[in-house]
Amino acid sequence: MKYAVAPAPVYTLPIAGSDEQFPINRIFCVGRNYAAHAREMGRDPDREPPFFFMKPANATVVAGSEEVTIPYPPKTANFHHEIELVVAIAKGGANIPVEQALEHVYGYAVGLDMTRRDVQLEARDKGRPWEFGKSFAQSAPIGAIHKANEVGHVREGEIALTVNGESRQRSDVSKLIWSVAESIAYLSEYETLEPGDIIMTGTPEGVNAVKQGDLMVGSVAGLGEIRVRVAG
Ligand code: MN
Repeated sequence: MKYAVAPAPVYTLPIAGSDEQFPINRIFCVGRNYAAHAREMGRDPDREPPFFFMKPANATVVAGSEEVTIPYPPKTANFHHEIELVVAIAKGGANIPVEQALEHVYGYAVGLDMTRRDVQLEARDKGRPWEFGKSFAQSAPIGAIHKANEVGHVREGEIALTVNGESRQRSDVSKLIWSVAESIAYLSEYETLEPGDIIMTGTPEGVNAVKQGDLMVGSVAGLGEIRVRVAG
């Protein structure tokens, strides 16, 4: 194959306890999937169908217990953290039944859906797409993927984020409005899932701004922690 320009790199995440890497295809993100977060965003947390937006593969930043640094993006004065449970898809499919959805999961990780909140809310309120608020490079620091066949499926457990050692977000994965299985099933009705797809399942309440130099430490029970610093 002779490319006219350099092809985009394959973005990958490490797999805990393995030499293999997980190649990132698409990153789907669920919006407003914890009731208390829906309320803090001024929305009704009734169980209306889930909605999704996407981030590009180059949003991926490999994170882990060793600190990594992300840039403070341009064109925002309100750069927000959203700690999330991340699901890695192994097996593709369309119209996946809820009862079979977890068979499509490769594993789970801790991730951050970093957001230009000011840009996102302006777009939201004008009925415009969220891309500039959500879908920028290095906006998704994610830790190592833990294989479902080793750690089991994540249905409950603390999800938390501190900034400079102070608690910002703390909830439990059991409070997801749409479970992992339900999110996979619903998404697969609209888009045929493919191996390497990632689903960020939504953030609990407590989203807030970070400044240059801040250190975020995010965790989900059983999946370790990620340490992500905002460049100073
Ligand atoms: Mn989010």
